[in-house]
Amino acid sequence: MTATRIPHWIDNVRVEIDGSRTAPVYDPAKGVADKEVLLADPETVGMTIAAATRAFPAWRDLSIARRQTILFKFRELLEARKDELAAIITSEHGKVLSDAAGEIARAQEVVDFALGFADILKGDYSVNASTGVDVFSFRQPLGVVGIISPFNFPAMVPMWFFPIALAAGNTVVVKPSEKDPSAALWTAELLKEAGLPDGVLNVVHGDKVAVEALLTHPDVASISFVGSTPIARYIYETAAKHGKRVQALGGAKNHMLVLPDADLDLVADAAVNAGFGSAGERCMAISVAVVVEPVADELIEKITSRMATLRIGDGRRGCDMGPLITREHRDKVASYIDQATQDGATVVVDGRGVEVDGAAEGFWLGPTLIDRVPTTSRVYTEEIFGPVLSIVRVQSYEEGLELINSGAFGNGTAIFTNDGGAARRFQYEVEVGMIGVNVPIPVPVAYHSFGGWKASLFGDAKAYGRAGFQFFTQEKAVTSRWLDPSHGGINLGFPQNV
Ligand code: NAD
Repeated sequence: MTATRIPHWIDNVRVEIDGSRTAPVYDPAKGVADKEVLLADPETVGMTIAAATRAFPAWRDLSIARRQTILFKFRELLEARKDELAAIITSEHGKVLSDAAGEIARAQEVVDFALGFADILKGDYSVNASTGVDVFSFRQPLGVVGIISPFNFPAMVPMWFFPIALAAGNTVVVKPSEKDPSAALWTAELLKEAGLPDGVLNVVHGDKVAVEALLTHPDVASISFVGSTPIARYIYETAAKHGKRVQALGGAKNHMLVLPDADLDLVADAAVNAGFGSAGERCMAISVAVVVEPVADELIEKITSRMATLRIGDGRRGCDMGPLITREHRDKVASYIDQATQDGATVVVDGRGVEVDGAAEGFWLGPTLIDRVPTTSRVYTEEIFGPVLSIVRVQSYEEGLELINSGAFGNGTAIFTNDGGAARRFQYEVEVGMIGVNVPIPVPVAYHSFGGWKASLFGDAKAYGRAGFQFFTQEKAVTSRWLDPSHGGINLGFPQNV
């Protein structure tokens, strides 16, 4: 079987060059790689950046009205054809179709938000700041911006950034994950159909060679990265060293804190949905339930009975949970289950050897529940990024809070309680960027911003929302005086407003 080649997208055409290095692209539910993706060398990355650089002046200068027309058309086309995109996501990522549809819906929110750019980018104007002097400020695009995305949201993560970057007048180079690269290519083709001019959004595929080329190229003004923490740190340091504006969102280990007064049925539903949705391959997945005694036994029973109802299998067959992204990742996640036993934890539900509705060669691992996980264990301290939910029992709110605050990551967290005072205290005291109150996956809507604290975000700019527009623009302030009879005179002192 010859594998289908996934090309780059440069200047609004599919480009198949430098086929010397490729990577297999699997259908994780089948365990078969029937596609391969080109891995760009630095010259191809340079060619892509050159296309974006050429396109920048005309795109920047296009009127607000005309940029809006193109983005509105993109919105319409995406709404009409989103099922095609969902099928692509499921075939390369493995997440079930309903989950892929959810990813697209959240991405569409950002497109909708970005369409309000005319209002958001309106400048400020101060009349007569000094006698006869007006001051106004406005924002302008950065130039060519780079987006480097992870495998787990192949459509949504690029769309956290590019609708805003484009609306603000930048041109874009996207480097998607080489594990599921087709969603970005499909989206770029849709943008062309919507009328986006050549070179305004380009997709270059590749691995660390392509990333390094983007990070160091003098014509790239900024980098927006989402991925694991070690790479996020490297991206932040390298891009900043090369003079770029950079936002690098990293990994996570999200806790839910369960107080004894919580509605345990709600908590059990939330734990199962947020722990095992997308096979746990979400940066906002819940991977630890910190349960304030005496309710842990009761909660575990409720979670376990719900887990027994989940159908694991091919995402195209109406299952609840699909496979993991690769065989290697599945094996790594499974190794944490061994580790848990070695560290003295109790494996309540073991997902290895799970029965599936799918091909035997798929990268399967069933939902796994581990109780009494020691907080010194790697199972507790490391991001697992799979369908493994740990239970840690604590005796008080304070003990739970301290545990959460002592972690390396600070992406998301949630508290489950019926006590408004406790919830209010938690949202103030917890050292995490995104917080849910009886909401397990508190991904902010598009008009707020997305981003964690600590090792979950390097740089000070969150994704989308007003922070997105700030990131993708730079401000100018103009102080102007039109001559009138009051001008005048030599004065070498620092200008004072009168
Ligand atoms: P990853 O870090 O392996 O890869 C992310 C991107 O970096 C990919 O495009 C990849 O090609 C590139 N890359 C990988 N290794 C590199 C290297 N050595 N040098 C330069 N570039 C390299 O992440 P992943 O496995 O694709 O995605 C999962 C991770 O992303 C998890 O840690 C998850 O928590 C995180 N994530 C975070 C958020 C967030 O908002 N904080 C959102 C989604 C995913």
